[in-house]
Amino acid sequence: MNAPKTIPFNQVRPVGKEYQYMQEAVSLHHLSSGGQFASRCEDWLERRLGTRRAILTHTCTHALELACLAIDLKPGDEVIMPSFAFVTAATAIALRGAVPVFVDISPDSLTLHPDTVARAITDRTKAVIVIHYAGYGAWIDGLKDLCDRRGLYLIEDAAQAIDSSYLGKPLGTLGHLATLSFHETKNLIAGEGGALLINDETLVDRIEIMAEKGTDRAQFLQGRVEKYVWQDLGSSVRMGELPAAYLFAQFEEADHVFGYRRELWRRYHTGLAPMANEKGLSLPRHIPDSSGNAHLFYVLTQDRAHRDRLLSHLADHGVQAVFHYVPLHSSPAGKKFGRAHGPMTVTDQVADTLLRLPLYHSLSFDDVARVVEAVAAFETPAKDAP
Ligand SMILES: *Cc1c(COP(=O)(O)O)cnc(C)c1O
Repeated sequence: MNAPKTIPFNQVRPVGKEYQYMQEAVSLHHLSSGGQFASRCEDWLERRLGTRRAILTHTCTHALELACLAIDLKPGDEVIMPSFAFVTAATAIALRGAVPVFVDISPDSLTLHPDTVARAITDRTKAVIVIHYAGYGAWIDGLKDLCDRRGLYLIEDAAQAIDSSYLGKPLGTLGHLATLSFHETKNLIAGEGGALLINDETLVDRIEIMAEKGTDRAQFLQGRVEKYVWQDLGSSVRMGELPAAYLFAQFEEADHVFGYRRELWRRYHTGLAPMANEKGLSLPRHIPDSSGNAHLFYVLTQDRAHRDRLLSHLADHGVQAVFHYVPLHSSPAGKKFGRAHGPMTVTDQVADTLLRLPLYHSLSFDDVARVVEAVAAFETPAKDAP
């Protein structure tokens, strides 16, 4: 008898006209940035999200670096961010010589809470970077109020949160700036890819220059200046046509992709909810009034040993599950370039106990049922048994 195929944690498959558009891009003889598909992608993002300006970048990491450049972060400035986060929000800060100040996450959203942020503000604080974890939002209105009152920039790392919303407003449109990722593990993909969303009108002109290697080439191409020259700091961050062509095909299928992912998520939730207690697991959390995009489905176990047992049990049953971030405040570079503020109780606990299940567009309903069955076959730890 053949053992069933392992269900991988992630899988990359085209969802629409990816091949056709990449072929078209090749035949248009323009493969660098500023091409037709890149413009169509930027227009799509601007219309869909209602952001003032979207600039496609090579990665979300580049968009975060551009954001930190655009707000003029300087050595000694501080930026408050969660310790439970992807590393490149911190590297973007540290590359400017500024200090990432890590704070604990809130148990209700697994990301920043305005009260925790308020306690970490000093007279050196210049900005707050919030990560919308798992595609669910933070208390973004509270963070926005706080930042407005204290004169701080709010940057949303919305890498995981395209098509998520809070009180009906799309995440990624509430901060001064926001970043998206189209990495192959995200909801819509380009292999590697990202975008910077500029919601603050006053930053648009400067960022257009910074994104064009610090030159006014964009204005030159529009016939607004006679030649283009070096004007400001900047870098080469704009996405080329081949990934943009792939990405545009994904954008065209976005509603289908988003709808299907939500259905997968719902099936995990209804499948696991009846057994969660017995297995000692808790299901994804989110704050009221937030609507997620089913970016990932996680469970929280009792402790690290319980999590590791579940991981290897699932592997034995042909399911590749994975844990997530190692807290930044306790990482070698986090200690060198950043500092922690306050206790990290929730961060440390979630880092030890969170486990992510496979969730991607080519996952079938049968696959989800198999994963749920595999969890059902997991033995409850003796010490937790009734
Ligand atoms: C994926 C991710 C990133 C990095 O995205 P890249 O496009 O790979 O640079 C940054 N932040 C968060 C929260 C992410 O999930």
